[in-house]
Amino acid sequence: VNIDVKLGINKFHVDEGHPHIIIREHPDMAAFRTLTLACPAGLYKQLEDGSLRFDYAGCLECGTCRILCRHSVLEEWTYPRGTFGVEYRYG
Ligand code: SF4
Repeated sequence: VNIDVKLGINKFHVDEGHPHIIIREHPDMAAFRTLTLACPAGLYKQLEDGSLRFDYAGCLECGTCRILCRHSVLEEWTYPRGTFGVEYRYG
């Protein structure tokens, strides 16, 4: 079973309008590119035109981006509020 299928098993309760991870206005580009490879959910993206995208909705709360790029890319990293965030399902 590939990783996308496995990730599809998890359920996300998205806290609309309250991102728990905020990207700096001018992130370090090299560090951001590292995250396009390191984030297990593939939430950091650099598009063909060079622009950067991040979507907090599928976050697995693994902390990889916080450990790697806390100061170079991230403005803020917290866990989602209360009942929001990933709900892991196994199987
Ligand atoms: Fe990706 Fe993990 Fe960072 Fe969430 S905490 S954005 S899953 S690297």
